[in-house]
Amino acid sequence: MTNPHLPLDQKILGDIYSSREAMDNLEVLCDDFGSRFGGTEGEKLAADFIAAKYKEYGLKNVHLEPFEYLGWRRGEVILEITEPIQKEIPCITLPHSPASQVEAEVIFLGEGHPDDFDANAEALQGKFVMVNSVLYPKGMKRWVHRQEKFGRSLLAGAAGFIFVNHYPGYGPATGGIGSHGMGAPIPGVSVSKENGDFIQRLAKKHGAVKMRITSTDKLEKMTSWNVIGDLPGTESPDEMILIGSHYDGHDISQGASDPASGVVSVLEAARVLGKYAQLPRTIRFAMWGVEEIGLLGSSAYVKAHADELHKIRFYLNMDAAGGMAVKDINLHAWQELQGTFEKYRDEMALDFAIGQSFHSASDHYSFLLKGVITGGVEAVRQTRSGRGYGHTQFDTVDKVTLRGLRDAAALAARIVLRVAREENWLATPRDESAVDELLNQPSRTEIMAFQARMEEYFGKKEF
Ligand SMILES: [Zn+2]
Repeated sequence: MTNPHLPLDQKILGDIYSSREAMDNLEVLCDDFGSRFGGTEGEKLAADFIAAKYKEYGLKNVHLEPFEYLGWRRGEVILEITEPIQKEIPCITLPHSPASQVEAEVIFLGEGHPDDFDANAEALQGKFVMVNSVLYPKGMKRWVHRQEKFGRSLLAGAAGFIFVNHYPGYGPATGGIGSHGMGAPIPGVSVSKENGDFIQRLAKKHGAVKMRITSTDKLEKMTSWNVIGDLPGTESPDEMILIGSHYDGHDISQGASDPASGVVSVLEAARVLGKYAQLPRTIRFAMWGVEEIGLLGSSAYVKAHADELHKIRFYLNMDAAGGMAVKDINLHAWQELQGTFEKYRDEMALDFAIGQSFHSASDHYSFLLKGVITGGVEAVRQTRSGRGYGHTQFDTVDKVTLRGLRDAAALAARIVLRVAREENWLATPRDESAVDELLNQPSRTEIMAFQARMEEYFGKKEF
């Protein structure tokens, strides 16, 4: 197949694959600024750094868009076995966990299959529910997110939630448990696989294990920022292609792969497009604040820009893209664009897979709910049992390769320039009823019923 974009492709590829800029930026974000978790000093330093890079790369309209949210500060925590022995177990609290002092018996629900919560509903009342971090519990075709395992514990009347990493050697895994703009009503702590196994052995031997959680975390109002910059279109500047990644990591980690590898890949795409491309439509680069505790930056953006979302031709989400072992394009149920992206793939002489599914675990979801056409650089060809070292203290710079960053940046830049130049764009945004239909398709009955129960619990209709 001939490639109508060959001269630009060659400039972009030649530049990206002969530059170390992406890795240099990753080292600044992670080594100099730390986790960039919401409410840390490094978060603001990162936002300012990204804005400065946008300017250096020639983007226009560079600015920070502030938004307020209910943040969380980690305090001290003690997790103790009180019966049948006395022993302290190392743990971390999960973001949005409240300050608490509560003692209860532990019930182990394995991988946290939704059916297990219903089958044991009465037994869970007033107990600590312990589940592990496996993404696809046995027999499940869909991803059962930590938030769902926590939510089902909450709905069952549990007194607390103990999250066990299912990988050995990685320590405890983190992840937010707040929702509906509120903190979690019951405490959630996270322990290593080794300690989770120990607690289970103890329960098996002695019949029951009682534990106590004492924590001092704080909820407080905070401000974060989305970082925006444009490469204005030369012909239809009002139409825009959006590309972005969140820049906040979890506070226990450098968040190098998730999300900083995505941030620097987007920056690298900005650098080369700013240098070589004159595109007919505007490319907007957006780095989202506080994704990790509830997609808060992207949610704030779709609210603040509600009247111009129709101008977005496509949003490409790059969360963690540079660190992914496999780099595919997942279109979030936009079958009408399958052929277009197959054409792009042939032109680009690449072999990525093109998926047609969606999930709610990153910033594209804020846009998907509003009908915007979205996709992401995701690992379509790979099903993993979990996040690996992601969301642990070991998500560090050394795990990310320059090759991975270059591949993600080049793929993103080449996709974006094609969408910007595409004369025959075959998709139109979904209206409210089409979004509704998508969310309520038969395969989603269980998750929608769960979400309805959560909305009722939190007494709010807006999700
Ligand atoms: Zn992420």
